[in-house]
Parts: sequence; structure tokens; C-alpha cells
Amino acid sequence: MRPEILYPLFADTETLPGVGARIAKNLEKVAGSKIIDLLWHMPLDVIDRRNSPALKDILFDQIVTVEITVGKHEGVQGKGRKPYRVWCHDDTGSMQLIFFHPRRDYILQQLPEGENRLISGKVEIYNGALQMSHPEYIMPINKRNEIPHIEPIYPLTAGVSGKVMARIIGEATKKAKPLPEWLDQSLLDREKWLNWYDALIDMHHPKNKEDTFSDTPSRIRLAYDEILANQLALEIMRRQTKKKKGRVMASNDSLTKQVIDQLPYALTNAQLRSIDEIKKDMEDPSAMMRLLQGDVGSGKTVVALISMLVAVENNAQAAILAPTEILARQHFDSLSEMTSGLDINVAILTGRDKGKTREALLSKLAKGEIDILIGTHAIFQKDVIYNDLAMAVIDEQHRFGVEQRMALSAKGKKGVGMDLLAMTATPIPRTLTLTVYGDMDVSRLDEKPPGRTPVDTRVMSLTRIDDIVGAARRAIQDGARLYWVCPLVEESEVLDLAAAEERYRHLSQIFGDRVGLVHGKMKSKDKDEVMQRFSNGEIDILVATTVIEVGVNVPEATVMIIEHAERFGLSQLHQLRGRVGRGADKSTCLLLYGQTLGKTAKARLTIMRETEDGFIIAEEDLKLRGAGEVLGTRQSGLPKFRVASLEEHHHLIPMARDDARLILEKDMDLTSERGKNLRILLYLFERDEGVRYLNSG
Ligand code: ADP
Ligand code: MG
Repeated sequence: MRPEILYPLFADTETLPGVGARIAKNLEKVAGSKIIDLLWHMPLDVIDRRNSPALKDILFDQIVTVEITVGKHEGVQGKGRKPYRVWCHDDTGSMQLIFFHPRRDYILQQLPEGENRLISGKVEIYNGALQMSHPEYIMPINKRNEIPHIEPIYPLTAGVSGKVMARIIGEATKKAKPLPEWLDQSLLDREKWLNWYDALIDMHHPKNKEDTFSDTPSRIRLAYDEILANQLALEIMRRQTKKKKGRVMASNDSLTKQVIDQLPYALTNAQLRSIDEIKKDMEDPSAMMRLLQGDVGSGKTVVALISMLVAVENNAQAAILAPTEILARQHFDSLSEMTSGLDINVAILTGRDKGKTREALLSKLAKGEIDILIGTHAIFQKDVIYNDLAMAVIDEQHRFGVEQRMALSAKGKKGVGMDLLAMTATPIPRTLTLTVYGDMDVSRLDEKPPGRTPVDTRVMSLTRIDDIVGAARRAIQDGARLYWVCPLVEESEVLDLAAAEERYRHLSQIFGDRVGLVHGKMKSKDKDEVMQRFSNGEIDILVATTVIEVGVNVPEATVMIIEHAERFGLSQLHQLRGRVGRGADKSTCLLLYGQTLGKTAKARLTIMRETEDGFIIAEEDLKLRGAGEVLGTRQSGLPKFRVASLEEHHHLIPMARDDARLILEKDMDLTSERGKNLRILLYLFERDEGVRYLNSG
């Protein structure tokens, strides 16, 4: 339950004076539908209206507030495209006011000929004469103080002018009231921060451009609040999981050693280190919550297997959860192969298993005759009962929500915390892991298995499509299989699809039935079928939107073509490229760009050419773009920040993490005075999911 003190902030914007349904709708696009969303909508710059020169002294375009005498109106009868002009002057010179599509009677009423007026707006020099289009303020001389001296400029959206936005946000700030302090006084003193309310008001009243920068004390204070809310929520979840007593499971090497011995390769140092970290967690009496981060191809599967075998060595069961049927099957195949010769039972369960087979499998599972179960969400359905599930691996963890994680953990023995290992191939810059995975310990596979041939990456203009098709033809003649990924168009699946379908038709005309198409709107069964045909070699070219699954393994595919590569996040490009270069053959990746490339876009694509290290790519992407974009918004799993900018405020993250830990150590359920205030903070930033897990207070 949201605290009452916050009700006014969570009212709809429509309750503000001057905001009707139409404006509210427009505001929603740029800020949100609640008053709080407007409070977090921050100025980018200021307009200083204090400049009041004589007209003759205006020598360049600038914002001015001038006192003038209104002269002739021109264009009263004017038709068509001719703008409406009003001549005006002061003692030193003259200026024209220009109106396009004017409301004539309004102008006549506002600017009666012969009277004096205060005019504020941007004056421009046009053919040596002064012009001002659509002045922002037209006021009688005695109302000078109704023109703000300094006005914040906010990010705008169609249908809301700068002036209206500033006024509406002004109204929104009136709804804000001081809130009880949730930060430690000593921190406030040390950092010289204002309280929440004063910081908020200060932020909306910048006096100059510098005041709108992200390093002003007020913004830092608010950013810290937000990051603290994030860290506190994560820490609550973490403690919730850790609270349950876990199992002490030490490896006796009976199975793990045999698997390692029969691998056709030696484990990398990164794999050994990660296995070590996992084993320590499993031996520890509290439940494991660990994330294994590693690029596509870095060898996460074998690490997962060895971890699961530790559970099996302790006479318990383990499971691995994959986001799709096809990935589950791949895991099943490789785990079966790696465990051949071992006296254990590995099985697969997906949504496709029905009737008798499913029943038989469930019965074995309940009896403990299955040691390792691999599958999709089917493995944590209600009627799936394990004999003793003690360890679970979640592959591509960002594809699953907290509830699913919880549902899977609930399959363990009552009152015993289950050991969880989450895996992801989405590299996240070190600075961001805390905000995304703050509730987990992290192991990184930052070293690739040896013997990979690097992917030859080239950046080319899409205008050379004919050459590219020619190259594709030659590659296919040489036996290659290729992916052709079509552009990401905004956030619209529909448009994505149109582009992919068009390319599919185009390539089908050239290559006939050797071309297949997969996209996000297809049923997963149909998707899998096309993927399967590509994997078997029945088709040579797979045209796809970005749906091609992260872990999908078709070692024969050696060419990756990505259209409009400039529209993808670098990490996304990296993921896509990771699908080739998996076999012994040399692979190629063509990054095709649409229009001429800007400097940043060029720099970004160049990074792709220079490195295949996902962590470096993610760090560089963070430097060049906003954090929200780093992962490609669709697959990010990155929490949304309103005030904090992760690229500029990440130094606050470790501080907030320590703060959160200390707070909960002293006040586990946030029931102290400060604890209650911190609850308000969690609700303020809508991170209240954690509050559910606290005991009442
Ligand atoms: P990920 O799941 O991290 O994308 P996989 O676990 O599928 O990667 O491993 C990719 C490939 O690398 C597999 O074919 C696997 O057998 C192989 N591999 C894993 N570890 C090593 C290693 N240490 N040396 C050589 N090859 C390895
Ligand atoms: Mg994998």
C-alpha cells in the first residue's frame, strides 16, 4: 500500500489546472501519466529573458524581452501561405512580428496599433531586418513581472509547447510537499545535499545551463535517492532468498571429475575460477544466488553441468531452465553427450510433452529416478513434483521474471533455500551489474576457449546491396549458410516484420526455396521448424528479425548479414555476430548501414570491427550511448531510471549498495523511524515490489 503522503504525486496529470485529456495524452508520450512523472521530467537548458536591449543594439539572433510600440498590421486580408506581419518599433529601430496560420482576431486584440507592449521571444536577423516569429509573450507594459526572467526548457513532445510544458510542470511542483528524510544526516552534511523537496524544486528552477547538468548537487541527491531505492529493493530480495537455510553440498568428485576427465578439451581459467566460486557457494549453508556472465561461446554449459553434478553427488536433483524449446533441446543434447558413461539419468521436459510420456516422466522425477531435468517453463508447472530438487540453473536469465525464478525455487524441499545459478550471455558493463544484478553474486567467463577463428567483420553501405547479394551467392556455392537480419524499426514489431518480409521476397526471387523467414510473430512451433530446416541445411539463408535465439547453435552458419546495423545496440550486434564463428570455418559478418553515418554511429560500428570481446563492447557502448540503450531496450532487463543517469551517476552505485546493506543489517524490516521513511522512498520510485517481502511495520 502506497503511503498516503504520496497520493498527490501519483494523481493523474489531468487533475492539474490547464491539463485536459488531449494534453495529458501528449504528456504521457514524453513524461508519463502521473504528476510524479512530470516531477522527474527534467529541464535540459534555460531561456534567459532578462536581456532587454534597444532594437538597434541587436546584432545577432537572441532571446530578448523588449518594449515596443505596435505599428501597422500587414496581411489582415492576406490569404494562403503569406505570413501575417505586425510592424513595431522603439525609439532606436524597428522589428517585424511574424505569425504563420494566425488567429487574426486574437492578434488584433493582443497588438492594437499605436499601443505599447512588452514582447519576449527569439529575434532573428533576416535580410538585415529584425524579425520575431510567434513571440512567446505579448504583455501590457505594466505586467513585466508576469514574464519569467529565467525559464527552464524541458524535453518536448508534439502538442505541448515549451511555455505550456514549463507552466504545467510549475503546477506539478506545487503538488510536491516536503517528505520525511530517508537519508542519513551525516551523508547529507558530508555531501552538502539539500533535502528531497528542496532539491526537487531547485532542479526545476535552474538559473543557467550549468544548473541543468547531471553533476549539480540537487540532481546528484535525487539520483542517489533513486539508486538507493533500486539497491534497497534488490537487497531486500537478496536477503529474502538468503534467509532460508540452504543445503550444504560439497563435491565428492565422483561425477564431476569423470566429466572433466572425459572432456575433449581443458577448461579455461575463467571456467575453473567460476566452478570454484560456485562450489564454495554450494558448500555454504545459505542458498546460492549467483549469476554466470559470459559471452556466447564462452562455455557456460559445462560450468552449469558441473554445478548440477555437485547436487547429484549429494543425492539431490538439479534442473536447467531454458527460455525456448530449441535451446532446451540443445542443452539436452550437449549434456547427454558430456555425461555419457556416467551412471546418471538426464531427461528433458517441455510444453510439447503430453499424455503418457509426460506422466511417465513426472513419475520418475517424483521418485528421484531422474537426476538432471532440462526444459522450458514446463519444468516448474504445478503438477511437476521433484523428489529432491536442490539446484537450479536458469539460462538466459533476463528472459524470465522474478515470479518465475520464485516458482522454480519453490520446487525444492519445504523451508530449504535452493541453490540458483542464473546465466546470461548479455554482457553488462561492470559498473552496471550492481544495478541489474545487485541481488546476485557474479562470476564472469571473460576468457574464450582457445582455437576460435575471429569473425571477419566489415562495415558497408546498404546501397551496395547488389554486390552483397553477389557475395552471398558465392558463399552459398561454397557451401556456406547465412543469417540475414533485418532492421529494428523503432519498437514496432509490425514494421520490423514488413522489412523482413520484403527482404525475404527479394531473396526468394533470387535464391528460390533455399530461403527461410523467422520472426517474432510466428508460433514457436513454426519458428523452431524453420530453424530446424536451417540447421539441417535444407535452407541456406535464414532471414530473421532479431528473434533468432541467443544460444542457437548452427556451426555450419558462417555468414551474418545485418541490415541497418546502425539501429542496433552494440551488444545486440555482438549477440547476433556470436551466432557465426562457431565452427572451424572462417566466418564473416557484414554490418550494413542505411544512410551516411554520423560520427558516433561510425565510431560504434568501428568498435565492432576491432573487437569480439563482449565486455569491452558493452563498456564502449556505454560511453557512446545512454545506458538504457546499451543492451538494446528490448532485451535489456535493465531497470528504468528516471532521474539517475547510469553513465553519469554510476559512481553512486557502490555507495548506495553499501548504504542499503547497512540499513537492512540494522533494520531488517524497515520499521525504525528512518526505515519507515525509506519505505516512502521505495514507493516514490515505484520499487515497492520489495516491500511485500518485509514484515509489516
Ligand atoms: P555458451 O553457452 O557460453 O554460449 P557453450 O557452453 O555452448 O557456450 O560452449 C560453446 C562451445 O565451446 C561448445 O561447443 C563447447 O563444447 C566448447 N567449449 C566449452 N569450453 C571449452 C574449452 N575450455 N575449450 C574448448 N572448447 C570449449
Ligand atoms: Mg549457452
